[in-house]
Amino acid sequence: MNLITYLTRIQFGAGAISVLAEELALLGVRTPLVITDQGLVATGLIARVKDMLPGTVALYDGTPGNPTEAAVLDAVAVYRRDGCDGIVAVGGGSSIDLAKGVALLATHPGPLDQYAAILGGVARISADMPPLIAIPTTAGTGSEVGRAALITLTDGRKLGFISPHLIPNVAICDPELTLGLPPGLTAATGMDAISHCIETFLSPRFNPPAEAIGLDGLARAIRWLPKAVENGADLEARSEMMMAALQGGMCFQKGLGAVHAMSHPLGGLEAPRLHHGTLNAVLMPAVLRYNEAYCGDKYARLRGAMGLAADADVADFLADLNVRLGMPQSLSAMGVPAECLPAMIAGAVKDHSTATNPRPMAEADYATLFEQVWA
Ligand SMILES: [Zn+2]
Repeated sequence: MNLITYLTRIQFGAGAISVLAEELALLGVRTPLVITDQGLVATGLIARVKDMLPGTVALYDGTPGNPTEAAVLDAVAVYRRDGCDGIVAVGGGSSIDLAKGVALLATHPGPLDQYAAILGGVARISADMPPLIAIPTTAGTGSEVGRAALITLTDGRKLGFISPHLIPNVAICDPELTLGLPPGLTAATGMDAISHCIETFLSPRFNPPAEAIGLDGLARAIRWLPKAVENGADLEARSEMMMAALQGGMCFQKGLGAVHAMSHPLGGLEAPRLHHGTLNAVLMPAVLRYNEAYCGDKYARLRGAMGLAADADVADFLADLNVRLGMPQSLSAMGVPAECLPAMIAGAVKDHSTATNPRPMAEADYATLFEQVWA
């Protein structure tokens, strides 16, 4: 196990979940609310977590596939009813993002939308927040060390909530928790980690340490994701992927780009329900081709990290990787109806990640890209 401090406190390694009670005690939490989903309850993991903790443990297990305002309000009601004084999120990005929304509304007055980044919410989020420990059970989102939460509001808008105060106080990254993840979900979440490392690296903001972390995470993910998909029981591959996902989350403070600006509104659709990582996998090749001329020598550095030949095409490589990992090839193959594209274009233009795409993006640029990735 390694203690790493960069943005937040991280306990990393096989078996790391055993430090949960200790970390809660350090934070002074006596009655935590565990936020998770029913799938994880069914695996027995949540019972194991409860057994590790000495006092009363409250539970909210209704996390939906993509976190919603309604779920935040339900979980806040449980938090208040059971007199909780801290939160433990156990799950993928949805449970962790939901927990950030719950922490926010546990101490800040509603409604939730006033805290959204694009509505001027960053300044309204204060440090007055209950302690939050994040325990990821997928290797992808990086939300365990990220300052953002993506939540779909009751009116259908999928908005980003961003603040350093939303960063979990502790991330407990235990690769053993990902051993049972099926190949499709391993691939999709792993492609999300890859998209974080690449988009962060290409973001025009100045932050060399974040770029170095992004390139290292990318190198690990390109090498180990196919192995983790092929053999889910390979603990070394799981550990490397958990580190790659963590690194993606540690660096995306530098800003993401058009891949995420496009996948955020798509992820807010009621139907079909689309997986964030799968969307990013499908979007990445086209966006990388579109951005290439605006990135100076950075694609050569991407090729270096990915172990590609000097004349290899980064976008083509990722398109091939999608095929090898069984990812879909287009938005239409994912069941996205063509009628929703105008709304998706409008959502992408307004998304907070648009500001840090290396190529300036207007409505016409997104129209071109959506057309390419839909077909
Ligand atoms: Zn992402």
